[in-house]
Amino acid sequence: MTTNVVTTRDSLRAALGTTRPGFVPTMGALHQGHLSLIAHSAAENPFTVVSIFVNPTQFTNPDDLQRYPRDLDQDAEMAIAAGADLIFAPDVAEIYPPGFATRVAVGPIADLWEGTSRPGHFGGVATVVTILLNLVQPAHSYFGEKDFQQLQVIRRLHRDLALPGLIVGYPTVREAGGLAYSSRNARLSPEDLARASAIPRAIADVLTSARAGETDTSSLIAIARDTLEQPGINVDYVTIVDPSTLEPIQALTPDARLLIAVDIGGTRLIDNAAIAS
Ligand code: AMP
Repeated sequence: MTTNVVTTRDSLRAALGTTRPGFVPTMGALHQGHLSLIAHSAAENPFTVVSIFVNPTQFTNPDDLQRYPRDLDQDAEMAIAAGADLIFAPDVAEIYPPGFATRVAVGPIADLWEGTSRPGHFGGVATVVTILLNLVQPAHSYFGEKDFQQLQVIRRLHRDLALPGLIVGYPTVREAGGLAYSSRNARLSPEDLARASAIPRAIADVLTSARAGETDTSSLIAIARDTLEQPGINVDYVTIVDPSTLEPIQALTPDARLLIAVDIGGTRLIDNAAIAS
């Protein structure tokens, strides 16, 4: 294991001293999306910390938690190669020691969409992000727009609880065919991977119609559903929302956001895009 890995709160604090680093929280199984966030942080900060922690409190499906891919040695190597200076890889008891009893609840934007389909998910995210930001004391923390609702929940949490540093949102990194990189893509069979290409196609179809002048969100959602609804794909939601409230909107606005969640072969995939009117 590389020497740049620390696993305890104390060793993390000792390694950082007064440094206010760039910070990239992850659950490991690193891919190009994570590596771009790390490279971005390394370019903007003299020191970058990457956390690798599969946070049990944000999983609502025990099977999903158990099957989540884990390879710390490979992740640490990839993170360092991408520009990380220090890896924080705590075990569960280090983050949630015996007696741990606090849960951070963010308001209404955490109850919609992913919050409805995965009740308690964002409570787990908000709790671990609060702990990590307090421990790392970053100057900048980097999160992907890939998890758009999560990014908005974290921005709310960060403002409301006066957490340290600035939150930086980074655009979604996609494979050549347009599918967003995700640690869960590794679980897809070749057939399911082919099915998943309907997601970027649905986004492209909506963008094309919006550019052609369609402003009615119901029509745009119908276009996305038409592309997505095929054998092997279970659509959880397709919606077009106001990015700050995550509430659905009827007519397109310049900052409207398309959100998509599907299940393919038991794997949940989410994606989103800005659709300028
Ligand atoms: P995760 O390990 O899935 O919790 O993700 C860690 C961070 O990487 C989160 O801020 C994600 O939004 C971000 N991320 C995941 N996939 C991508 C991607 N394809 N492009 C950009 N950021 C991503």
